[in-house]
Formats: sequence, structure tokens, C-alpha cells
Amino acid sequence: MAIHYQCRHCRTKLGSLSDRAADSEQLGFHSLTEDEQHKMIRYDTKGDIHVDVICEDCEQTLAENPDYHQYESFLQ
Ligand SMILES: [Zn+2]
Repeated sequence: MAIHYQCRHCRTKLGSLSDRAADSEQLGFHSLTEDEQHKMIRYDTKGDIHVDVICEDCEQTLAENPDYHQYESFLQ
């Protein structure tokens, strides 16, 4: 099992963690609500975990364009 992070806006791959590091409690998943977990975390057929996060580029774009989040649904 491994954990893969990707930006939920531009789909840039932000890195992966191997199975040794893949402890959901260490990663803070338990602090997310169930709803957030459903939105952010997906499990694939191999049992790998895919986590949607936001990359620095998109974070900056959102910070500079406060209205940008309105278009989020178009980007997904
Ligand atoms: Zn991005």
C-alpha cells in the first residue's frame, strides 16, 4: 500500500509515500470529518490511497484570485 498525493485542481502529482510511512493516523486522516475523507481520499484497486490536496501554484492562484474558487467545479 502506498499513498499518492495529487493536486485536486491541476492534477499535478505531488509525491507518494511508501507503505512504511502510510499510517493514516500519522497522516492526520483521523482529524478529517467523514465527509472530508470521502472527498479527499480515494482507494484504488491495488489498495493504494490517493489524496487530493492543493499544490503551491494553485494555492497561490486562489490567494491572488479570491473569486477563483467559484470556478472550482469546472476544473474538476
Ligand atoms: Zn495545482
